[in-house]
Amino acid sequence: MVHIHLCQPDEKKSCAACCGIYNYVDNSRNSLEKRFLYRTRLFVRVRENLLSLKDYQDIIRHRENAKRIYTTIYTCEFVGFLDKGRRRVGCMLHPMLNKGDDLRTRSFYGREICDGHFCPSYQKIEAHEARVILDALDDWYLYGAVITDIDFVKTFFRIVQDRLGESIDARIVVTRPKLMETFRRFCGLKTSWPFRDTTRPRFGKYYFVGEEYDIARIDYEALGARVSPYDPIFVSLSSLFRTGQDLERANRLMETLIEEFCDEYEAADRCDH
Ligand code: SF4
Ligand code: SF4
Repeated sequence: MVHIHLCQPDEKKSCAACCGIYNYVDNSRNSLEKRFLYRTRLFVRVRENLLSLKDYQDIIRHRENAKRIYTTIYTCEFVGFLDKGRRRVGCMLHPMLNKGDDLRTRSFYGREICDGHFCPSYQKIEAHEARVILDALDDWYLYGAVITDIDFVKTFFRIVQDRLGESIDARIVVTRPKLMETFRRFCGLKTSWPFRDTTRPRFGKYYFVGEEYDIARIDYEALGARVSPYDPIFVSLSSLFRTGQDLERANRLMETLIEEFCDEYEAADRCDH
């Protein structure tokens, strides 16, 4: 169990994944930024008592494309930017933003659920993994996508730790610019992965058909290949490999990244001892 507040860890980033922000069919950074900016400005009028919460909701419902990837998961209209610099996303109904008034009583889930929800990352992500992610990422869009993808994070750490034969010491990683840069490149695959499946609604490892969802497996047999050691990462990245060559390229890309990380870590570790 990690004791860091993963939802709002610092002034430079935050997560609002469980409020449904990645569940819009158009969940690109640009599109979410536009949504949140409009909502944030409109919500100022609620705080100034120029608009009721009901009017706010009606305007948002009328204006926004609410199409969801997975229809059963709610996409909350009250997510907006929490700071002037627009670096943190989160709940605009929270009492800290409303002079102590907890407006979450008006939310779809209700105050208790909104207040008390802690996603599985709190249980599964270990302290050293969280520390490295928090130091590497200062970008709400990428941070939320990474911190909630347990397979993506844990597979990376498992592979590098198996190769190094020791647990990763977060202090070594966060004090070495090269290691941080390599880890950032790994996280950046979330938005730059060239093998992303765009043929059907995907959400990381899941694919959706109406109300139904399943885990999208990679058909290695059809590609004439063995299961990749990076399979959980590839699945998390919503990969679709059309040919064996595509898979080879993906394996090489990941291998280079992991190797670089391990070489840099070993060199840094030697310096420290
Ligand atoms: S998905 Fe997890 S880390 Fe993100 S806001 Fe929700 S509870 Fe916090
Ligand atoms: S009301 Fe609940 S679901 Fe909506 S943004 Fe706030 S915490 Fe998230």
